[in-house]
Amino acid sequence: MPRKDMPAPVGGGESEQDGASPVPGGIVDFHVHLFPDRLFEAIWDRFVTDYGWPILHRFYWREAVDHLRRRGVGPIVFSNYAHRPGVARGLNDWNRSVLDEDPDLYCFAPFHPGDDDALAVAADVLRHPRVLGFKLQLLVQRLHPHDERLFPLYELVMERGKHLLLHVGNGPVGNEFVGLDGFAKVLRRYPDLPATVAHMGALEYGGFASLLEDHPGLLMDTAFAFIPRLGSMCDIGRKRLEGLRERILYGSDFPNLLFPREDEIEHLRSLKLTDSFYRRAFRENGLALIRRACPDAPPKAEC
Ligand SMILES: [Zn+2]
Repeated sequence: MPRKDMPAPVGGGESEQDGASPVPGGIVDFHVHLFPDRLFEAIWDRFVTDYGWPILHRFYWREAVDHLRRRGVGPIVFSNYAHRPGVARGLNDWNRSVLDEDPDLYCFAPFHPGDDDALAVAADVLRHPRVLGFKLQLLVQRLHPHDERLFPLYELVMERGKHLLLHVGNGPVGNEFVGLDGFAKVLRRYPDLPATVAHMGALEYGGFASLLEDHPGLLMDTAFAFIPRLGSMCDIGRKRLEGLRERILYGSDFPNLLFPREDEIEHLRSLKLTDSFYRRAFRENGLALIRRACPDAPPKAEC
């Protein structure tokens, strides 16, 4: 998720020996993007035309998964989203085929309320034991989180014990569909909404942290929020991060990165948080959420 005023990426190489996991047992990566090849290419091209940013890794889905596996990543939770009506059903067919090729993949599926059969498509994909729930990319989908057409989806997710991944913050760029205020409205209606706020709520980090403190169903993921070279890093202090350690999931945004994923891991480690924080964020919180949302297909990894 590049922003227009970011510094230029330097190099682009990644050290092969830096594959060691920061925690025993390996990482659970809760924010990976996998798309069908042509759609991936279109997204990568848009990064260049819209922002002038070449993506570091133009990896198709199998290359992306292999790359992460070689670096100590166990369960991978990927997502894709429906940028317009009419694509969710086809993407879900593709998601099912990808899930069926690799038993350690899990998925947040796309949803678009503009589809006539939106809820039926959503209920159908939830039948796959490794679909955790749904991803909404509200900035790109141009949907308010409190759009009442999303309420049946939220209710379905809660009814089935599933989870949401929401790009609902106003970073790296915002529009009228994202930000703290709209999300707070949803929480007034659904205070127990089970959802992960992507990117630590960038750029309203502290405000989203307060929402987490008030709403036990919420988590945050780290994707793109701890990269010093981006210049818009998460500004939640160490003490508050520690207080939220059961609610933070590591995510990389791989492969759509501008800088090596190791930069973010290294920065997180340099914060000198407790071992318990790292164990939870890099691994245990992810395993626990998978077990909760996908009880019929628990991760192979042992805690
Ligand atoms: Zn992402």
